[in-house]
Amino acid sequence: MSRQSEDGPGTGAAAPMSDCPRCHKPLQLCVCDSIKPIENRVSLLILQHPQEQDRALGTARLTAMHLTNAVLKIGLSWPSLSKALGRPVANPSRWAVLYLGSAKVADLDTKSDIVAIDRKGEIEDNQRAILKDIEGIVLLDGTWSQAKALWWRNAWMLKCQRVILGPPRPSRYGKLRREPRRDGLSTIEAAAMMLSSLERRPDIAETLHASFERMLTKYGEFQNEQPELVPKPRPKRDFRRRRRA
Ligand SMILES: [Zn+2]
Repeated sequence: MSRQSEDGPGTGAAAPMSDCPRCHKPLQLCVCDSIKPIENRVSLLILQHPQEQDRALGTARLTAMHLTNAVLKIGLSWPSLSKALGRPVANPSRWAVLYLGSAKVADLDTKSDIVAIDRKGEIEDNQRAILKDIEGIVLLDGTWSQAKALWWRNAWMLKCQRVILGPPRPSRYGKLRREPRRDGLSTIEAAAMMLSSLERRPDIAETLHASFERMLTKYGEFQNEQPELVPKPRPKRDFRRRRRA
C-alpha cells in the first residue's frame, strides 16, 4: 500500500522528513499507533550510548514505549545502578546486565539460551536459582564498541549478574544491519528474549517481535518508494563485508 499520498503538499525528493514526537522516528517508519502496552514484572533499564543515532532502525525507544516497567537513559556513565534507574535498588546482584564481550554461549557447556556467567566469562554453577531471582535487566544500546564503552565506564555493572544470550535464530534485522556475530540481537529482540523467558510469558516476545517486524516492513516499503529519503542503516565500522544490502 502506498503511503506517499499521506505526506501532504510539497511531497517530493526534497521534502523534509518530519519525526514522530513519541518514537523520534521519521513518520514513515513510526509504528506507535499499534503499540500494545505490556505490564512487565522484571524491570528493564536500557542505557543508550549518546552516539547511537540510528533513528531509522534503532529499537531502544520502541522497546521502552511498549513496557510499563522500563527506563531509557542516554549517556556514557552513571555512578550507580540506582542513579541510572532513578530509584533505589536494594540489591544490584539481582539485576542482570546483558553484555556479550568475548563470551559466547556456544563455547559453554549448556543447552540454555540465557546464561549467567562470572567475571572470568565462565558459566555460573546455579543458573536456575540466579535467573529465578532476577528482578531487573540492563541492556546496552549501541554498536559493539559503544556497548563495550558503556560496560567499561560503569563499574557498578560488576555488582550485577552478567548474562549472555545464545538466540535460537539470528536477528530479524537480516541484511539491514550486519551484526558481527550471529548471537547479536537488536535491543527489542534481546528484551523480548530475556523478559519472556524470565517471566515465562511468550506473549511478551510475540508482542515485541510483531512491532519490530512492522517497523522493518515499513522500512522496506519506504526504501522502495523513496530510497533517497530513507535514513541509511548506520555503517558498521567494526564489521566490514563485501556485500551491501
Ligand atoms: Zn512514533
